Amino acid sequence: YFSMIDFFVLSAAGGFAMYWFFFRNKKQDQPTFKKLTVTPVVERGSSSGFINKMKNTNRNVVVFYGSQTGTAEEFATRLAKDATRYGMKGMVADPEECDMEDLSQLTEIENSLVIFCLATYGEGDPTDNAQEFYDYLQGGGTDLDGIKYAVFALGNKTYEHFNAMGKYVDSRLEELGATRLIEVGLGDDDSNIEEDFVSWREKFWPIVCEHFGVQATGDDSSIRQYSLQVNEDLPKEKIYHGEISRLGSFNVQKPPYDAKNPFLAPIIANRELHKGGDRSCMHIELDITGSKIRYESGDHVAVYPMNDPDIVERIGKRLETDLDTVITLTNVDEEASKKHPFPNPTSYRTALTHYLDIQSPPRTHILRELAEYAEDPKEKEFLMSMTSSDGKDKYNDWIVKDHRNILAILDDLKSLKPPMDHICEMLPRLQARYYSISSSPKIHPTSIHITAVLISYTTRTGRSVKGVATKWLADKPVTDGKTYTVPIFVRKSQFRLPFKPSTPVIMIGPGTGLAPFRGFLQERDYLKKEGKPVGETILYFGCRYKAQDFIYEEEINQYLKNGSLTKLHIAFSRDQKEKVYVQHLLNKNKEEIWRLLENGGHIYVCGDARNMAREVHDMLERSVIEQGNLDATKAAEYIKKLQSKGRYSCDVW
Ligand code: FAD
Repeated sequence: YFSMIDFFVLSAAGGFAMYWFFFRNKKQDQPTFKKLTVTPVVERGSSSGFINKMKNTNRNVVVFYGSQTGTAEEFATRLAKDATRYGMKGMVADPEECDMEDLSQLTEIENSLVIFCLATYGEGDPTDNAQEFYDYLQGGGTDLDGIKYAVFALGNKTYEHFNAMGKYVDSRLEELGATRLIEVGLGDDDSNIEEDFVSWREKFWPIVCEHFGVQATGDDSSIRQYSLQVNEDLPKEKIYHGEISRLGSFNVQKPPYDAKNPFLAPIIANRELHKGGDRSCMHIELDITGSKIRYESGDHVAVYPMNDPDIVERIGKRLETDLDTVITLTNVDEEASKKHPFPNPTSYRTALTHYLDIQSPPRTHILRELAEYAEDPKEKEFLMSMTSSDGKDKYNDWIVKDHRNILAILDDLKSLKPPMDHICEMLPRLQARYYSISSSPKIHPTSIHITAVLISYTTRTGRSVKGVATKWLADKPVTDGKTYTVPIFVRKSQFRLPFKPSTPVIMIGPGTGLAPFRGFLQERDYLKKEGKPVGETILYFGCRYKAQDFIYEEEINQYLKNGSLTKLHIAFSRDQKEKVYVQHLLNKNKEEIWRLLENGGHIYVCGDARNMAREVHDMLERSVIEQGNLDATKAAEYIKKLQSKGRYSCDVW
């Protein structure tokens, strides 16, 4: 995707940044600055929304987030907390809930600053909650003269439009007259986004100090955001049991269903697709009868999983906490828009099972807070050493590469005794998992199919790890007389069959990348049987061994036989000495690809974003160069045009 993070320009403030960086932990060496005086309360009601709130609560820093999986929101929260360490006062805000036109009024607040933590989603798109803000900026925006801002972008280099959203906002704000305090931070989730964030932030705050003439308060101690209340004797119906938003929504289900109100879909099929080998791929059917949920081929279904009860139990034991204690965690900042870290009141067990991500390796701010609870000074120092950018190699090695989750850390550092409520406050929210729907509503209007590989691996420390969602789904057979349900919602995608069925299509989907194409094939087959003129339908599929992981083999062969699938190009990577992948097959079929493109054909790619999608892109470009007699620049333009016209789409993860 894009360029490297070493983008940062060490500007005039750079020297100072280095100074601060090396000496910030030594109190006596801290630079002295004038203390910031926060504007006193300005007349209430003079402006609406977030500006008003900032004025009324003496805040001068607002951190907006565009978040799809929670990371941008988490970074925003950390930056808002940071502000207090510099005598400033920050708040986190969701652009979806704010009138972003008010941004220009930030100048009414003395020494004010706006920070954006913005993730890029899909093909260079904003996240759902930042879409309106994006449209607003694209549609013109407003004069932002006098506004000070900073952007930290979150993205993934394996995707073509690396950090497109963050970069766009960063340059658009400048165009509108705002003053950038620091070069946009480019977080790369493919490498180590935590490290990128920590490095950016270590450069950012010294610049803020210099710009506003504020200084670090020197109080680096942990800041608790939530206060704990233990609720005894609460009736069951007053306690959350995993609902995402509305209490009781899992007992009395009401449409419409969305991310905040998922539908509990019964699993009506769950079978193994692999015929051998030690890996597993599941075909799951979810019943949506009566839910009023509609979907189209190419859409995604989101699943809210539950954590492994065994891990939950072990965390409870290790921290000597009764997991059935019912608690409420309330934000000590009464003005904060987020009152609780997750739905409250609930039990520790429910929080660890439904709401918290207990299986990902924790980020450095968690290690920092954990360090406070290490009784052994060596363990404390060890944890602290991983939290600055000096310690990034150690963090990478011990946490990331070893895949140490919170339980593994607690098990390996015996003197750590954090209280359970602080653990619950620190850990990020457990996120829904997305799956490319592998059915067509034309054939299956009342069910949604998923094709998912069970994640299973052993870490370097010998711990066996299973994917949260895929293990949870794997443990839900339909044979044992019990009906399991899964909280789901559908997310619309741009991955669509051509409007006219007569348009030819090329589908490239190795492994589980086949998922949406199973839906596409069902749809084209249905239309053909209805007597519609259906264009050429070509599928590229790849797997390791024909005898083991050729998923949906019978169905595909049936479509080949009846002509709904015109051609199947298949690569079994390990059935011969030389590894063969779909990319290689594309290379052999450049003529066919060019012919279909020139006939108005559409190309679809689904599956692995890291290698496959990129190599397929290169192959396509090569086809266009060789067959279309275009030079590299013209070929790239040709491909760009295909993308913008919706004739070349990727659904990769
Ligand atoms: P998690 O608990 O989330 O664990 C996954 C993590 O484990 C990885 O991120 C990686 O850090 C680590 N990991 C995995 N394997 C290894 C290894 N061998 N060694 C070390 N670490 C490892 N998945 C499908 O199967 N089918 C689909 O159709 C599909 N469609 C998707 C569509 C979209 C739009 C997106 C965003 C994702 C899609 N996914 C699909 C991926 C899916 O959402 C989940 O990420 C996947 O099922 C794993 O979830 P999990 O909770 O089981 O694993």
